Parts: sequence; structure tokens; C-alpha cells
Amino acid sequence: MENNKAVVVFSGGQDSTTCLFWALERFDEVEAVTFHYNQRHEEEVEVAKAITDRLNVNHRVLDMSLLSQLSPNALTHKEMDVEEGKDGSLPSTFVPGRNLLFLSFAGIVAQQTGSKHIITGVCETDFSGYPDCRDVFIKSLNVTLNLSMDESFVIHTPLMWLDKAETWQLADELKAFEFVRDHTLTCYHGVIGSGCGECPACKLRNQGLRKYLQQCEGADIR
Ligand SMILES: [Zn+2]
Repeated sequence: MENNKAVVVFSGGQDSTTCLFWALERFDEVEAVTFHYNQRHEEEVEVAKAITDRLNVNHRVLDMSLLSQLSPNALTHKEMDVEEGKDGSLPSTFVPGRNLLFLSFAGIVAQQTGSKHIITGVCETDFSGYPDCRDVFIKSLNVTLNLSMDESFVIHTPLMWLDKAETWQLADELKAFEFVRDHTLTCYHGVIGSGCGECPACKLRNQGLRKYLQQCEGADIR
């Protein structure tokens, strides 16, 4: 019988929520996994819980607080400011190897729950220099996970080649545009929905939203 169970790496943000809708459309059984690592915004985990409750999706929170022991950065140390990367350097929100760890743990969850499919919202288009968001890394890790557990997982990356406007378009195609706009948390300052409007995450999200809505106006869609 075809294995139709999926694990979604889920933060409660725009990207992973769009991925969650994508998975719900394709797979019979979907579980969302959220990693808790003393985020600057504790709200993130609460938002992730609220979204999965609304969508009636099984949700698991894994404690990854060891990450804050490993790397001083703005997401895990509140005293540091969120800064955009300058001169090609990585942004101050960078946690080295974060996706490597998260996807490995998601793989273990998938193994234990008998799920073949793992979904992540990583994206190479706006990748801000995060090396473990690259397609080549995901393909490499997929092979490694399969070898490590003698499984045949398939890692899906629905957003890999989309820009932010196209991610909004995908949410719209999944009939999730309003849900994603109103209930997800992308803002580094913890403001749900449209966000603070000032932080780098809000700027990126809002630019994409404006671009998508302008395209829709041009095409008279929305
Ligand atoms: Zn913000």
C-alpha cells in the first residue's frame, strides 16, 4: 500500500504554514513538528499550536534548547539586535546547521511514526546565505537520512524555487491566502499577521504580498 503519511517541519510562519496546507492537500495523515529553542519570540510555539488546533492537525513540539548553547545569535539571545547581513555576511539570525538538525529530528519522528514524507519550507530563492536551505543540501540530507535509517523517505520542498510573491500565490491556490495572511507569525518582534512592518522578516513578507496583490490586480484575479 502506498505510504501516505507526512511530517511537516512547522514554525507557524508564512512559509511552513503554506507547506502545511500543501501537505494536507496531498497526504492522508499529516503531523506538524515544531522545534522549541528559546526563540526570541516564545509566541512562535504558541502560534504554531493555535494554527494546528484550528486545522485539526496533530502537533508535536520538540525541545531543541541546546541550540542556544551552541550559537550566540539574535533569535536565541534577546540582547542581540536583529540585523540584516551586510556585505554578503550572514544575517544575525543565523544558527549554523539549524536545518540539518531540524530535518534530522523530523526524520527520526517520521521513522517512528511510519511516515515516508517529510516537508520543509526551505527556499533557495531568498536564502540569505543559509547554506542548509540550498536544494543540493536537502538532496544530500535525503540520501543521508535514508542510509542512516535504512528508509526511503522523500523530503519535499514546495517553496524551494519560489520567491515571496509566488509563495503567496501558492497559498492562494491552496485556498489558504487569508488564513496565512491573518494567522501566521513571521515578524521577529512577535506581531501576528501583518507584523511590525519594520523588521527584515516583515519587510520581506510584505514586499512579497504587495507584489503578489499587484500581479493579481493586473490580471484582475483577487
Ligand atoms: Zn516585524
